[in-house]
Amino acid sequence: MKPIYLDNNATTQVAPEVVEEMLPYYSTFYGNPSSMHTFGGNVGKKIREARAKLAELIGAQPEEIVFTSCGTESDSTAIWAALRANPDKRHVLTSHVEHPAVKNLAEYLGRNGYRVTFVPVDNQGRLDLDHLYSHLSDDTAIVSLMWANNETGVVFPVEEVAKRVHKRGIVFHTDAVQIVGKLPINMADNTIDMLSLSGHKLHAPKGIGALYIRKGTKFAPFLMGGHQENGRRGGTENVAAIVGLGKAAELAVARMDDENTRVKALRDKLETSLLSAIPNSMVNGDVASRLPNTTSIAFEFVEGESILLMLDEYNICASSGSACTSGSLEPSHVLRAMQVPFTAAHGSIRFSLSVYNAEDEVNQVIERLPPIIDRLRKMSPFWAEKERSCQTNA
Ligand SMILES: *Cc1c(COP(=O)(O)O)cnc(C)c1O
Repeated sequence: MKPIYLDNNATTQVAPEVVEEMLPYYSTFYGNPSSMHTFGGNVGKKIREARAKLAELIGAQPEEIVFTSCGTESDSTAIWAALRANPDKRHVLTSHVEHPAVKNLAEYLGRNGYRVTFVPVDNQGRLDLDHLYSHLSDDTAIVSLMWANNETGVVFPVEEVAKRVHKRGIVFHTDAVQIVGKLPINMADNTIDMLSLSGHKLHAPKGIGALYIRKGTKFAPFLMGGHQENGRRGGTENVAAIVGLGKAAELAVARMDDENTRVKALRDKLETSLLSAIPNSMVNGDVASRLPNTTSIAFEFVEGESILLMLDEYNICASSGSACTSGSLEPSHVLRAMQVPFTAAHGSIRFSLSVYNAEDEVNQVIERLPPIIDRLRKMSPFWAEKERSCQTNA
């Protein structure tokens, strides 16, 4: 049975057009793009096409794109490149709500001789810009901020920040994995030095990513080896996946409008219907600056995991705002950084849509979820407690 898949910020369905475009590169066209013969050279030509399509999606020049194995590799490559290019600078600035791909590397650097500043966010997930600017120093090697948050969809004003950071001669990197393909971006119009993206978040396969490196940016490769990717990333190209990412980029350009009209309207319908049908529910994050496909909703006094299990019985896929760390359920670092109250953070569910969602799927969630929350609350000691205190107050 086909699931009702509302977990597109975790990964997406590979577009059928992408699969079709990739298959010949696993069978007929298996040549090495670096080979001298025409058979290999034709594969190289296809990679150039894919690079141009991806560049078009983000308003970059094809030479500014380096294919990597994933978003995580792109993030690591960018941060290490900036540190190696500025060996005497020992300060790194990032935020409290980054994806583990940046967060865990930043924490590692903090334990290994670097000074790391984590910029806080407010209770809507908005970046504290004053805090950020006041911590820039001549010792800062890199500022790395996500463009859009994977849990809440909140979009940071990274272009504005990049301008200030760039003026001080500091490298600016953005983890744009969640925004690429969902909102239009144009690297020709900003001063961001490096940008990470990942294939599987935009209907290309898992295991392919890219790093945008602005012309003129000092760079040192993460993977040293052959001359592939113009000497910026060694290793024989993952040809089929690169071809797939190129096709996915082309589709994203064509579907950007649908994402920002129909998909956004479905997200809004889901959100407003659930908020009005379920008492003690609220949105996590700044609704004024958000991805069109994402909503994180807190259902107070219930466990997110229990909600997910009950949705799973209807084959509805979403994710919760908790992470199982060392055997206990902890609200995610993102919701904690936003100081979402304990009772709300624990009952937070993220729904993330894509162009493959239809209205009847959203309608099913709107029908199924309110009775689920009701049932769970009847079993919740926190809810009983709250009901009691309300009655006493009345
Ligand atoms: C998924 C994701 C990543 C990691 O990308 P992978 O390709 O899975 O390594 C990094 N940053 C953000 C914001 C993401 O959502």
